[in-house]
Amino acid sequence: DSNNEDASFSKPKTTFKDVAGLDEVKEELVEIVDFIKNPDKYKKMGAQVPKGILFYGPPGTGKTLLAASIAGETNSAFFNTTGSEFVEKYVGVGAKRVRTLFEKARKEAPSIIFIDEIDAIGAKRHLESNNEKDQTLNQLLVEMDGFNKDNNVIMIGATNRLDLLDEALTRPGRFDRHIYIGNPNYFTRHEILKVHTKDKPLCDEVNLEEIAKKTHGLSGAHLANIANESAIIAVREGVSQIKKHHFDKAIERIVAGLESKNSKLI
Ligand code: ATP
Repeated sequence: DSNNEDASFSKPKTTFKDVAGLDEVKEELVEIVDFIKNPDKYKKMGAQVPKGILFYGPPGTGKTLLAASIAGETNSAFFNTTGSEFVEKYVGVGAKRVRTLFEKARKEAPSIIFIDEIDAIGAKRHLESNNEKDQTLNQLLVEMDGFNKDNNVIMIGATNRLDLLDEALTRPGRFDRHIYIGNPNYFTRHEILKVHTKDKPLCDEVNLEEIAKKTHGLSGAHLANIANESAIIAVREGVSQIKKHHFDKAIERIVAGLESKNSKLI
């Protein structure tokens, strides 16, 4: 099936304000936002605007959210894709999709092309092979090299495994800015919890700092999940506010879920 060719995009309203914590990462991204907003400033100075940024690190840490917020900050068209969308059974289909995507992104510029799980197409190539995956990756490289300085299209790739990526993809002039996004520290966990309980009726006894302390090692996605779970538990109990024990139960559930997942892996 090769009908899925109309590359779709959105204009996200998400901005850096929606991304809790991660201050150092945001600081680094402010410069990228400036590149997109004022390309002439850099051009006059003879500076090369980066074409590709790689977010790497564990899942659920806000990589997609950050990419969308760069689009929101710059009023760019946001093409939200995943690597696996380009992996097809028939040779040439993935490459064609990449071509269509770039065509559309150039037309709608300024644009951000986000490719989540980029390792699905960007894993190291095998010598002498020319399978569908390699053709798709080659097409991606061709498109990136063909970027003209005036294009104002920025690629953002995300992966959990930087080490799996083909060097052709990570070398200068391609995805040459590598930004690590790890699990949140205490401060960021606290900020994430604030964001995700903003519109929820919390009982006074709920102490988000304490919850942030207890949730070391969990991702932003887990914390969002905990906030949502505790609200659901409160509804189930028929009360009008979320209490401490609702949070405790939600944390217990998420942690137990993680432990059983890990034990399955062994
Ligand atoms: P994956 O690698 O699995 O694709 P990701 O790193 O792209 O994950 P996101 O999809 O951006 O993660 O985050 C998942 C959800 O977790 C977000 O929709 C948001 O609700 C929450 N979240 C994660 N980090 C943050 C953060 N810093 N601030 C607010 N919410 C966050």
